[in-house]
Amino acid sequence: MMNFEKRPVLISGPCSAESRDQVMSTARALQSTANYFRAGLWKPRTRPNEFEGVGEKGLPWLKDVQESYGLPVMTEVANAEHVDLVLKNGIDAVWIGARTTVSPFAVQSIADALKGTNLPVFVKNPIHADLKLWIGAVERIDSATKGDVIALHRGFSSYGLKKFRNAPMWEIPIGLRSEMPDIKMFCDPSHISGKRDLIQSIAQKAMDLGMDGLMIESHINPQVALSDAKQQLSPKDLISLISSLKIRDLTLDKAQTLDLRDLRIELDSIDERLVELLSGRMNIARAIGKYKKENGLTVLQLSRWKEIMSSRKVWSEEMGIEQDFLRSVLEQVHKESIRIQTEILNSGLGEGS
Ligand code: PEP
Ligand code: MN
Repeated sequence: MMNFEKRPVLISGPCSAESRDQVMSTARALQSTANYFRAGLWKPRTRPNEFEGVGEKGLPWLKDVQESYGLPVMTEVANAEHVDLVLKNGIDAVWIGARTTVSPFAVQSIADALKGTNLPVFVKNPIHADLKLWIGAVERIDSATKGDVIALHRGFSSYGLKKFRNAPMWEIPIGLRSEMPDIKMFCDPSHISGKRDLIQSIAQKAMDLGMDGLMIESHINPQVALSDAKQQLSPKDLISLISSLKIRDLTLDKAQTLDLRDLRIELDSIDERLVELLSGRMNIARAIGKYKKENGLTVLQLSRWKEIMSSRKVWSEEMGIEQDFLRSVLEQVHKESIRIQTEILNSGLGEGS
């Protein structure tokens, strides 16, 4: 079983194993910082004829890392054959990549190959933001291996210009954790960022959200890496990044709970009032809906919506509330008003007269 007492548990190593020298020199530099050494042997590449990994040839290199540096090693598996090879060669743990998690057939065949073993498996999120698909993959693997099953957040793909290579959409890993509270959650800031300078803030955010560990790519000479060169850190930069992370307590002690008690009571009562106010607002929307129906008016009165948004903008400035935040809250409230009014306008349709 894996040991999760230390936070973060750190998995590091190159995107791909490229040569015995590259693997060994990276592992040597990481040996006192990383808890697990990673290196991809079979690489899922977007286009053919890109570097597709060294395959089986790299298995003995990972064994050398175990023996020379005492680091447990892991690699990516994408099918049952990879699982068999990993088991035969005493690899300590595996991860399932984002492009594999999307396919229940592929995940199931990996699960079948893992049946009865105690191999720990990290399940990356699928490339698109589908929480249920991720949960399903975790369930399939969890019912096969007797080892730990850990969720690994690597962000979600989208098309076009964007800040992140894969948008973090933190609500999705939070959603998985709340549906599966016993599953540990790791974050992979390298594949979220896609470039070196964003890794630190993503890693810090993962820690602030209480995630258990990090997987960060590190290459002895990132500039010449055969895959993901832009996002790999040198071991030296990785070590300084890890030591700069601020790790805050996950739970409150008794005194802290007491300190926060009054503020939490106040919050609860404000939330209660907010709900009352919202309910009152929806009742008025209902009355307006009735009036519009009786007078043959449309639900959406654009001029009124514009007037609402500009007056509320002034209020947000006066009250010190972030404008974008207020705008998105009001948009939700307005959307619900429109839904209610549309329901009223369409009620009784087709009853005939
Ligand atoms: C990787 O970890 O190198 C990898 C290919 O990751 P992902 O499946 O997240 O793209
Ligand atoms: Mn990679």
